[in-house]
Amino acid sequence: MEYSILAESLNKMESTTKRLELTQHLVELFEKTPHDVISKIVYLIQGKLRPDFEGIELGVAEKLAIRAISKSSGIPIKKIEDEYRKGGDLGHASTVILEQKTQTTFLVEDITVERVYDTLFKIAKLGGTRSQDMKMKYISSLLNDATPLEASYILKILLGTLRLGIAENTVMDALAIAFSGNKENRKKLQYAYNVSSDLGKVAETIATKGLEGIEEFEIILFNPIRPMLADRVKSEEEAIEKMGNEFAAEYKLDGERVQLHIEGDKVELFSRSLERIESYYPDIIEKIPKNIQADNIILEAEAVAINENTGEFLPFQELMHRRRKYKIEKAVTEYPITVNFFDILYCNGKSCIDLSYKERREKLEKHVKEDEFAKYIPMKIVKNQSEIEDFMENSINAGSEGLMLKMLDKPYQAGSRGSHWLKLKREYRNELGDSLDLVVIGGFFGKGRRTGNYGTLLLATYDEDEDTFPSICKVGTGFSDESLDQLYQILHPKVSIKKNPRIISDMEADVWFEPELVIEVVASEITLSPIHKAAFNEIRKDAGLALRFPKFTGKIRVEKAAEDASTNEEVITLYKGQKKVAHDKNLM
Ligand code: ATP
Repeated sequence: MEYSILAESLNKMESTTKRLELTQHLVELFEKTPHDVISKIVYLIQGKLRPDFEGIELGVAEKLAIRAISKSSGIPIKKIEDEYRKGGDLGHASTVILEQKTQTTFLVEDITVERVYDTLFKIAKLGGTRSQDMKMKYISSLLNDATPLEASYILKILLGTLRLGIAENTVMDALAIAFSGNKENRKKLQYAYNVSSDLGKVAETIATKGLEGIEEFEIILFNPIRPMLADRVKSEEEAIEKMGNEFAAEYKLDGERVQLHIEGDKVELFSRSLERIESYYPDIIEKIPKNIQADNIILEAEAVAINENTGEFLPFQELMHRRRKYKIEKAVTEYPITVNFFDILYCNGKSCIDLSYKERREKLEKHVKEDEFAKYIPMKIVKNQSEIEDFMENSINAGSEGLMLKMLDKPYQAGSRGSHWLKLKREYRNELGDSLDLVVIGGFFGKGRRTGNYGTLLLATYDEDEDTFPSICKVGTGFSDESLDQLYQILHPKVSIKKNPRIISDMEADVWFEPELVIEVVASEITLSPIHKAAFNEIRKDAGLALRFPKFTGKIRVEKAAEDASTNEEVITLYKGQKKVAHDKNLM
């Protein structure tokens, strides 16, 4: 497939953020794509080479790319740097430069999508001391044969600056339309995506085998399954109202969710956002295979830091010491954990996700042996309010956050947040109720003690319908000196020259960040706001929602992707909930 078709399509997509238009461009692109290239196209439009969980990073630095442009065009490095400084990104600058170039090159070889993809793949795989030269050689050979527009999109993919704002849902809409003629079939694609986390594979399947192929889609060991999530409830009464009169209550442990894929001694671990995390947990890799009584298995567990002397569960932050990879051996002994299993998704070659909760729990206890490192999450079948209250008390005393409540007869719904699982946290009973997980989109430089750091951060919710990040508040309290430094280290590399089109805000931040980092905040109230854009026009015309007196809790939610942040819908629910409380109080 000619690469120019993709480059032109990317060019059109880059100039719109409207979901319908994006979908239309994608449908047209997919219709022009041969079936054996479709997975590559799906990865490339997302700026990737493979699904995220494979962890393949291109990692090309701007300097190297500039040298490659210079080598292939004969234009001095200085001139390229000047053009780059003047405006936008390097991809864009390269178009301007290459259009003016004086040196004539002959287009010796047509650029195909396959060639670009294979070359990028080779670049990603290169390591070691001589890799920089080899990378340069590969890049300049591609640029040599590329038109200015093609070169621009090769560079954007290489540098990780291709940001079209295409949500996975939009890709699935377009695949459903292009290959089945009906957008409604998106739901079937969604299932396939939820159990494989691989949009390229989903695309290839529908293109080559049609909807039938999609319906036969199965869980594959070592391909992570997108996690099932829980709705929140505020009280035992509300839980009973929603769950009926008999359900399971489990401790809600405050650790890191880990999905374990195991066959013999081979173990792979995936985080909640499906990143590979084996390097933080060498103890899990070493010990857990001994506990497994099955040929192969996929399990879910919460890894929790513990106090070895008392057995008490410690808060999530303790686990973060393990994120400092260079000292991992030390961290493993200093910050011991237990692995607390709560679900089984696959066993001996068969999916378990369609089994009921009760059947899965039985299976879990049959195929996983307990010891002092591997535990089943404490669970009790509860029937009434006082039983829930008692179990909640035990859970809090053991050092956990509250309870997860699960319907006994329901399957595992991969990739969705629904009412078959509910979370009941102790702190929900206070104030605004819940904490929010918000995306850091902008920063303001600090003064006084905070000079040189970002003293205040601009935060956003996630708008699921539009796939955007509308602002909800500025936060400047709750930061310790240590957390300010830590946030600076994490955020500085995310500074973007231009505001990402998925950020919705009229504010003038000192710097804009790529919307990636999620932090936890609490607030006293949610109010209507003419400035902020979260849930804009939803409650009142020309007003959004904002947080009053927001405060950083100290929790950086590294395990969450930006799309896992609190949504507009959740904020609206909290807003309405607080109005109801105020109303009820007035009646008393
Ligand atoms: P929160 O923000 O409340 O921590 P979340 O948004 O990360 O939650 P939720 O689905 O809302 O995700 O809450 C479930 C999370 O709680 C899981 O991702 C998991 O890490 C953790 N957890 C702790 N105990 C359990 C349990 N018994 N069953 C399922 N998940 C549990």
